[in-house]
Amino acid sequence: MFARSLLIALLLGVAIAQPARTPLQPVPPVTSPGRAPSLPGQVQPLAPGARPAPNLPQLTLTPPVPGLTRLEYRGNGFIEVAHGVVLLEPDDESLARRRAVALTVVQRALAARPSLAEVDVSVYDRASYGGFGGPLPLFTASVPRDRLADFTRYVGGVSAYDRVFEGTTPPRTPPGPVARVREDALRFFGNASDLLQQQVEQSLSQFRGGVRGGLLFKGGLARPVAALTFDDAPHPLYEPLLLDLLRREGVKATFFVIGRNAVAYPYFVRDMIEQGHEVGNHTYHHVRLPGLPDDAVRAELSDANRAISDITGRPVHYFRPPGGDYSPQTLRIAEGLGLVTTFWTDDPGDFDNPGAAVVQSRLVRHLRYGGIVLLHDNAPEAIDVLAAFTRVARERGVRLTTVGGLVGSAHAGR
Ligand SMILES: [Zn+2]
Repeated sequence: MFARSLLIALLLGVAIAQPARTPLQPVPPVTSPGRAPSLPGQVQPLAPGARPAPNLPQLTLTPPVPGLTRLEYRGNGFIEVAHGVVLLEPDDESLARRRAVALTVVQRALAARPSLAEVDVSVYDRASYGGFGGPLPLFTASVPRDRLADFTRYVGGVSAYDRVFEGTTPPRTPPGPVARVREDALRFFGNASDLLQQQVEQSLSQFRGGVRGGLLFKGGLARPVAALTFDDAPHPLYEPLLLDLLRREGVKATFFVIGRNAVAYPYFVRDMIEQGHEVGNHTYHHVRLPGLPDDAVRAELSDANRAISDITGRPVHYFRPPGGDYSPQTLRIAEGLGLVTTFWTDDPGDFDNPGAAVVQSRLVRHLRYGGIVLLHDNAPEAIDVLAAFTRVARERGVRLTTVGGLVGSAHAGR
């Protein structure tokens, strides 16, 4: 009995000694202000976070394309990609019109900037447009320069083209409030006894690594492997840049995908799987889960699982809660759906845009066996440091891989 108490006391000591960036504090459950126990709940912001990212350069087309509200572009040191957002008027949204305006943007952007390797377009209904994370687009397309002829034929109705999404007109409800909660600290929602149990589980995980009680904080310490994870995927500007970099570096990663964005950009999720990456669940709407009723939490997780599996043809094994916010309810429901709730050991704060040098030095400082690195799919500084970080990992003999690859055969490759 004494030995058991001593063990728990030692374990709690370790829990208290955790890095400051991952506090485990009991926090009362949150409900959205002014909204009934919300369905789908408080939508979490997507990166970038506290500090705004530098404005992306815009490509100006002359004469302008009606409805094209922005056409931004970015490179990754090797290729450049542009993404255009088109807002159509409610009386001008036929499928033919959606396809035609997308083709116009793609053709003219590729002509205006010869260095572009790909142009992606998202066509929205102007009346319900809520930005990235709002209602689904009416139409999206991803057009690498060497697929332009195929896309042109598809718009003409002659043949199919596989890098498009054709949506339906969404209901015209205004987007809900967005809470500025960042994904940079674990926040546990529960009572004191739940918290004690969490601290013990987390401490054991710190000692042993691997999946415990439906939770994964880090991998085992014996193998020279760390997991590379990207939250908030897929993003129509950054995804091709990120996948291109990972391919060049020969590194596999796990993308925690938002179900809504997987539906809007299914071809990027297919690309992830075809290129050997792993796709995890990051809820359907990117919502804060603690405080929601059971059926809403279950719907967030199972809808995202379905959206992903419909594209990949594979079951989903790993789940990361938006904002790092979780509770016993989150863990219970995730486990019931066959999902391991996956946290991280290293969060360099790319979400906050502290500067590429800061992100890089944090990544390098924390790189270790069994680590789980948290980056964001749509944080520009993650793109900027990725190649240098993967080279440092190689020099130190740490292989960066997927979460499944980190925890070994139990979930890898299934
Ligand atoms: Zn997120």
